[in-house]
Amino acid sequence: MGYGNKIYQSAMEELTRRRQAAESAARDRLEDFYARQPAAREVKAAMASNAAGAAKVVLSGGDVRSELEKLKQRGAALSVEYDRLLAKEGLTRADVAPRYACPHCRDTGFVDGRMCTCLKNLQRSLAYEKLNMDVPLERCTFEAFSLEYYRDDPRAYRQMSGILAACKEYAAKFRADSPSLLFWGGTGLGKTHLSLAIAQAAIEKGFGVIYSSVQSLAVALERERFDRRSEEDPQDTGGQLVSCDLLILDDLGAEFPSNYVNASLANILNARMLANRPTLISTNLNAEELEKRYSPRVCSRIMGTYGKMEFLGRDIRIDRRKHQNAARQNL
Ligand SMILES: [Zn+2]
Repeated sequence: MGYGNKIYQSAMEELTRRRQAAESAARDRLEDFYARQPAAREVKAAMASNAAGAAKVVLSGGDVRSELEKLKQRGAALSVEYDRLLAKEGLTRADVAPRYACPHCRDTGFVDGRMCTCLKNLQRSLAYEKLNMDVPLERCTFEAFSLEYYRDDPRAYRQMSGILAACKEYAAKFRADSPSLLFWGGTGLGKTHLSLAIAQAAIEKGFGVIYSSVQSLAVALERERFDRRSEEDPQDTGGQLVSCDLLILDDLGAEFPSNYVNASLANILNARMLANRPTLISTNLNAEELEKRYSPRVCSRIMGTYGKMEFLGRDIRIDRRKHQNAARQNL
């Protein structure tokens, strides 16, 4: 479970940036204070050497207890003096200490070796951001999925109510070994919308999700194939697609036909099936068309293991436009 290495690294970079900014601002405030109260710098140095003295006393043997008591008293006196100088400037120690964005982990991302909530949240928002760059995520929630468009076709309405409920349940129960799904049906019936609603729910739970239209994926795979030949920093798209927690491939069959892309897709889907990782595929093609276009072996495995949902109805994007036009005319 996780958002993937890239997201983790960007989150850690962000935390390092926050930590360094907090510490550098604190240094500035401290220097500012020393500039106005130069004695404070000496008091601080004396406090440090006093603390170091305690270690020496312990190592030297002799009357350790009384020596330590002296050091302790001296330390307390220095501390009072330091606070007094701060107070002269209207400051407390908190004013010259770093103000970390997260006081629990001091912007390191970890508390006692465990990942801090701030790092988890940061990874989640980065994952959203990344997905949001390509797709209108906010509009594609379960709540925003309207069954109204299917009202005048009872069969489609029944079918789509069932699909909506099944998708909600799938999202609510999503795990790293959830079953794979195949959405099929014509364009504009809400396949992408429900895929993205599931993607959001999975990200919310802390899973790494990759969403891609097969068209842009095909372009990436082809480009990488040539990059690899030129030995330039390969992106390893294939590796990420195999290892992410949930892979969503939108509009299978809309890509430009290519044997190389077909073979790569088959490898990716096969590897995910073997590892029991869920994949969600949406397509306009029916079973026959899929088999004609892709390897029959992969197709039959998809047909055998994926949960299939058939989207019915008319293109809701056309209906939506009609609604909007009607609304405009009523104004
Ligand atoms: Zn934290």
